[in-house]
Amino acid sequence: MNDSVTGRNKIILVQPSMGVAGEFVRHPPLSLLYVASGLVREGFDVRIIDLRASDGGAAEVVKALGDDVLWVGLTVMGGAPVSSALEVSRAVKAAGMYPVVWGGSLATIAPDTVLGNSAVDYAISGSGVSSAVRLSRALVANDTPTSDELDHVPGLYSRHEGRIVGRKPFRGFEPVPFREIPYHLIPDYGVYAHFGTARRVFPIYSAFGCPYRCAFCISPAMYKEYKPKWLPLPATEVVDHIEYLRDRFDAGLIYFYDDDSFVNPEHIRGVLDELKRRRIKIPMSFRGARVNEILRMDDEFLSALAESGTEILHVGLESGSPRILALYEKGVTVEDTIEANRRLAKNGKLIAAYNWIVGTPGETCEEMAATRRLLLRILDENPRAFVFQPNKFHPIPGTVMADVAARHGYRPPATLEAWSCEEQEGDKREPWYTPRIQRDIEMMQVTSYFIDHKAELLTTENSLYYIIVRLIIALYRPFARFRFKRGFAGLLFEYPLFRRVVMRHRKG
Ligand code: SF4
Repeated sequence: MNDSVTGRNKIILVQPSMGVAGEFVRHPPLSLLYVASGLVREGFDVRIIDLRASDGGAAEVVKALGDDVLWVGLTVMGGAPVSSALEVSRAVKAAGMYPVVWGGSLATIAPDTVLGNSAVDYAISGSGVSSAVRLSRALVANDTPTSDELDHVPGLYSRHEGRIVGRKPFRGFEPVPFREIPYHLIPDYGVYAHFGTARRVFPIYSAFGCPYRCAFCISPAMYKEYKPKWLPLPATEVVDHIEYLRDRFDAGLIYFYDDDSFVNPEHIRGVLDELKRRRIKIPMSFRGARVNEILRMDDEFLSALAESGTEILHVGLESGSPRILALYEKGVTVEDTIEANRRLAKNGKLIAAYNWIVGTPGETCEEMAATRRLLLRILDENPRAFVFQPNKFHPIPGTVMADVAARHGYRPPATLEAWSCEEQEGDKREPWYTPRIQRDIEMMQVTSYFIDHKAELLTTENSLYYIIVRLIIALYRPFARFRFKRGFAGLLFEYPLFRRVVMRHRKG
């Protein structure tokens, strides 16, 4: 029990609902578990409420409030989660004098805008593990701490006498030993799975950070002053963690959240060797694998990955246009991507999942067509490849590409309501879109769900529902591919249907 003079010892951490993306992939809220680890160690009573996993909405959070609550925290990224988080924050403020704290990627990149909304009292920019502990101590000592009393809280933004005061974020990574992650705070891990599968998914880190400098990505700005910029964990610790999750929580899929797992191939080689030594084979997926890193992997390494249980490598393809790739400072060529995909295809077991971006300032229809051609070639040359829906380019404040976008007339969202529209499924029109580019993007947003065999590759459930879903996808696929290949965006009757599905999953 924390030694609170006020008797307020409880902290409620909330994962907002995610919109349509949350329907396909739902992982345990690892960032909240990380923040909770320090608070639990400090003796606070922490409750985690995940609104993706319940229908309770803001009312569920309000129901959990009481005299013992010290603050309510939310982890928020741009897009639909902002609407949900705002709804919760307003409901909490209406219910009493509870401090509301936002952390996560939005508070990291736009803390002033977050605090521009009166429903939020504090924003934590950057890593929040130690900041949450220090803020809690300050709130225990004083309901309304002065600016001086908060100056030791890294990355904290707060309002004082009508102005916003910001403090430098925590510099460096805050890895949490896995035995200190308070997994017991999640009541039911059965709700965390990928669409069409029943396996329990557990995200973990094997490494933190990234040394690359992609111009659209927040990582170079975030890690600018970090030394080192990439921090791998010891292989034995990673495998201990995997074993723990398998034995204690029946983990069915380990999902590495690393920005980049393969900066030094020896790191994952060590993990694979340790898994083999302990005779552990468990499904795994890696979120961060770069094309240049795949080109460094030989057949034997790729086989070892597959034999250890690895299913999916997420690869940043980004664009089929050499000019756009150079603008992104991606450091790989179109030919590199084709070659990396061939190597993955040759392996025959690993699934390659490609991320890509459209709607970059100055990008032409022909450059977007080059990306479509590359994606179709990738799919044709690798039956075990699929593509995600396009990332609509949204400039992230602090990145090189944000400056490029500013020169094309972009102004960052000035309110949280505007930030709720910054999402890949959204229909926001950037100043540089021509009507043709807008139509092409809408066409790609819809058809990219259908042009490949992701449904067959990723779903294992065989209930009538999933059989019908797979059948509908298979029936629409030829038309989707026709549109995608030809750039045919005319009579796009599918788009209003798509918007209805997206809006149905937005809350708040
Ligand atoms: S490799 Fe990935 S995480 Fe690293 S800078 Fe590029 S996009 Fe960001």
